[in-house]
Amino acid sequence: MKCEICNGNLYYLVYDKHADNMAKMDCLDCLSVIQYNDDIKERITKLLVNASPQKLAQIVATMLVNATEDNEVENQFEPLIATKDRTRLLIAGEIISEMMKNGNENKC
Ligand SMILES: [Zn+2]
Repeated sequence: MKCEICNGNLYYLVYDKHADNMAKMDCLDCLSVIQYNDDIKERITKLLVNASPQKLAQIVATMLVNATEDNEVENQFEPLIATKDRTRLLIAGEIISEMMKNGNENKC
């Protein structure tokens, strides 16, 4: 859901009568949500850091495949598996996790 104050822009414009023009104001509502969410992520990370690497890897693998159109799965992942390209798989995971937050329905 987009913020009614800033429409997701993290700022809004207000008239500054001293400068006689519009001024950008930070949206404190959104910034506090971002700050809180970052704090939650950090605390969850601390909890999960000692979880089973197999379980964490399985979750990431499932997220990667589920976020990809069925007809793209082979093209997307077979080359990365064949070349053991762990770095690109992790980057893809990061991109997908950001897309999920942005409500972006584009598949990778
Ligand atoms: Zn806002």
